[in-house]
Amino acid sequence: MVDRSSDITENLDVNNESADSTATETAPLRAVGYAAKHSFSNLKRFEFERERANANEVELEILYCGVCHSDIHQVKNEWSNTVYPCLPGHEIVGRITRAGSAVTEHRVGDLVGVGCMIDSCGSCGPCQSGDQNYCEGPNSWLATYNGPMIPAAKAPGEINTYGRDNTYGGYSNNLVVKADFLLKIPAALRPEVAAPILCAGVTTYSPMKHWGVKAGQKVGILGFGGLGHLACQIAKAMGAEVTVFTRTEEKLDEAGKFQINAVLENDEKALDRLKSSFDFILSTIPEKHDINPFIELLKRDCTLCVVGALEPLEPVNNMQVAFHRKQVAGSLIGNLADTQEVLEFCAKHAIGPEIELIDIADVNDAYDKVEKGEVRFRYVIDMASLKSTE
Ligand code: NDP
Repeated sequence: MVDRSSDITENLDVNNESADSTATETAPLRAVGYAAKHSFSNLKRFEFERERANANEVELEILYCGVCHSDIHQVKNEWSNTVYPCLPGHEIVGRITRAGSAVTEHRVGDLVGVGCMIDSCGSCGPCQSGDQNYCEGPNSWLATYNGPMIPAAKAPGEINTYGRDNTYGGYSNNLVVKADFLLKIPAALRPEVAAPILCAGVTTYSPMKHWGVKAGQKVGILGFGGLGHLACQIAKAMGAEVTVFTRTEEKLDEAGKFQINAVLENDEKALDRLKSSFDFILSTIPEKHDINPFIELLKRDCTLCVVGALEPLEPVNNMQVAFHRKQVAGSLIGNLADTQEVLEFCAKHAIGPEIELIDIADVNDAYDKVEKGEVRFRYVIDMASLKSTE
């Protein structure tokens, strides 16, 4: 283990009971969380150690962590790239308990967020232009959990620039993060509500910003789940007229409280009436699905962007696309600047996810409910509940 103790300033917050004030300078940070050891196993209590923060890093006490559908895909190895043990969680809000000596933007006691990334190469074109989420370094960006996006085995020369094969995420009591990858949590957002904005929020905000959603436009959202219900609120706050397409009949009524339109995704008559009327459509559906009926809903020159299914889709009918110069696109989370921006945007417009706080011991049950579509609309783990699992 690398000794990074000399990089730490003496700024332990003695009032913060969770700070590991008993740690000696060289001792690693004791950590506990919930992890899966195999694709077929449940998440269970898992004790481990984290390296102490170096000069450019901070240590956090995690307060809340959202449950993203990506966590479930990853735990179950549905993307065939999971590194075990898999300790998920990338919608993290916590309080800084220690800061390295070179950290100037954040102080002990600050409430901060961590999303999907904890590092990137910093020198490739995308990183230089602030798009860390599209890092083209040999290992791409370092994910908050599951290690580098491109593991050594698939990197040129089997290089591992981050020096770690796996990373452990936010379903745990603490985290050590490079300060550059921290987000500031606006005072107007409750920390548990801010958490899902760090992934679900930016994943939907970033493409809407990129494709220029603006007031007066018509925006369609496919899938009224964690990402989808935030996308609807963000698009509405951007001034768009929003329609959500759902497979769940009860959600037709639930859309009313967000003051948006709702249509059953297989209601052919309704889809027929909506042909060629949308400026932008975002699909958040988590599985392979047929986007052709929705491409027909776009106006000429407009875009349907898929963020949900990160896998092959049903074949696209290019007749529809070509005849009206439409575009089918994808988008991956969002960069750090957009993540900070969407936090401020949600605070300013008083919007945010509808959350249900759960104990960590209930996370496996929560996964079942997300898969069955029973969550309304995002589970957030109260990390204080880890104490009762001892
Ligand atoms: P949720 O499960 O919370 O929501 C997905 C919604 O899609 C469901 O509520 C349901 O809405 C609808 N849905 C589910 N299954 C189907 C199906 N088979 N066919 C049609 N509709 C379906 O998931 P999240 O919002 O957390 O995540 C959505 C997807 O986005 C996941 O696959 C996740 O991995 C991905 N993701 C991608 C990111 C990126 O960077 N591109 C970043 C983060 C997440 P309804 O009941 O209204 O039909």
